[in-house]
Amino acid sequence: MISSGERKCSQLLCTCIDWKNDDLTMQVNHLMNYFDFTDFELKYTTLEPEENRRLCKVGRCRICHKDLCIGKELPGQTKSDELLTEVYRWMFQMWNPSHDRLLDGADCFSDMFLSVFHESDQEFVSEWLNAKARNVSPACEEGL
Ligand SMILES: [Zn+2]
Ligand SMILES: [Zn+2]
Repeated sequence: MISSGERKCSQLLCTCIDWKNDDLTMQVNHLMNYFDFTDFELKYTTLEPEENRRLCKVGRCRICHKDLCIGKELPGQTKSDELLTEVYRWMFQMWNPSHDRLLDGADCFSDMFLSVFHESDQEFVSEWLNAKARNVSPACEEGL
């Protein structure tokens, strides 16, 4: 579901409706019904405080087959711990296991979460995940 903190992205290329002018309800309906999930993308350079970070759920329109994107600006003044929490929560909320597939190479949600970070950050994120998220989401082996 799209709420006020989330924004449609500049990568929104689907041509089925006019994303600048059409009714918001229509846009939300279109995203809910025709969004074919392909990827999560996190745009950042560092896990330290930084402006203009963005997290996107990227997909493809089932009708016109062009890109769709639901994105969220991440707060600039957050430490790595809060940032990871924010990214984790949003992805968990936006990913629908009954409907969205897992990304290639991911066996579970945690794998997908890890995969949005730069390779050089993954060890740190993985440790964070082990320490913090155990009680937030089921472990990989439990099949989520
Ligand atoms: Zn986007
Ligand atoms: Zn479309």
